[in-house]
Amino acid sequence: MSEKVIKEAIENEKMACPKCKQPIRKYEKYAETIDAVRDGFNIQEIDSHASRVTLLCGNGDCNWKDRTEYWEDMID
Ligand SMILES: [Zn+2]
Repeated sequence: MSEKVIKEAIENEKMACPKCKQPIRKYEKYAETIDAVRDGFNIQEIDSHASRVTLLCGNGDCNWKDRTEYWEDMID
């Protein structure tokens, strides 16, 4: 999963705000989560394919926003 998926989900109004049920309009601070594993003197980086994003409702006066790793679960 990637930032493109979030962008498209928002453009296609596939993510709903849990507070007002309107489509989420914005996101910010997208970041990939990388788990680093220490193996003796070597540090192995493992891409966990997780990513974290701040979702913002952006409808009317609804001020809902959330920083989550589980944004995939919010896509219809
Ligand atoms: Zn809302």
